[in-house]
Amino acid sequence: MSSMMLCKACRAVLPETALDCPVCAARKSRTAFLEYQKNFRAQVIGDKALLVLAEIGTLKHIQFIGDPAHGLCGSEITQAKRRRLYYSDLDREKRLCLACMATFSEIYTPEAARCDSG
Ligand SMILES: [Zn+2]
Ligand SMILES: [Zn+2]
Repeated sequence: MSSMMLCKACRAVLPETALDCPVCAARKSRTAFLEYQKNFRAQVIGDKALLVLAEIGTLKHIQFIGDPAHGLCGSEITQAKRRRLYYSDLDREKRLCLACMATFSEIYTPEAARCDSG
């Protein structure tokens, strides 16, 4: 019986063939992407940059900036119908993906932007 390999960072059980912890790798890339979104926060909140809504069925996801294949919630959205809109128009949208919105508010809270504008 071989001893189980655990990730030193997150304690996840590693597949026998893994060179890197898949749990950590996914978290790191997501964290990096979330940080990347924050570069656009001032433009988005100031309605100077457009957001992309990706509609699948009746559910609207918000597209990751720099990753047209994924919504903020992590959903694959390559087949989605797209529409651009400004941040201030987002209030009027119905059936927005709740997971996308949760991530969205994490990145684009007006509280966070207030620090930038002074
Ligand atoms: Zn790990
Ligand atoms: Zn979503």
